[in-house]
Parts: sequence; C-alpha cells; structure tokens
Amino acid sequence: MRRICCVCLKIKSEHGGWEKPNSVKGVKLSHGYCPRCYRRLVDALPADIFAGRYRQADH
Ligand SMILES: [Zn+2]
Repeated sequence: MRRICCVCLKIKSEHGGWEKPNSVKGVKLSHGYCPRCYRRLVDALPADIFAGRYRQADH
C-alpha cells in the first residue's frame, strides 16, 4: 500500500520521497497528504484548532 497525496496526486516512493504517479498501476493507494500540501493545509486553518480552543460560534 502506497500513500497518494489527494491534492497534488504525487505518490510516496519507497525511498521516502514524493514522485509523479507513472509506474504505479495496480498498486493499492491510501489517500493522504504529502508534506508540502499538508503544510499548506495547516497554514490555511485557524491556529485555534491546534491550541485545542476551537469551537463553533455559540453567540
Ligand atoms: Zn501533495
């Protein structure tokens, strides 16, 4: 099972890098994020989520 980034569709190689999917036909894939897209995702979220203080507006 290989990890595929669901944002840029790169696939994690056996060496730990991320590469374009060219020779992965028939390989079982598990969706996730590569470090670059994960970083972008995290940066787009409000910091409160990671401080454990996130809640829905109740007023
Ligand atoms: Zn990615």
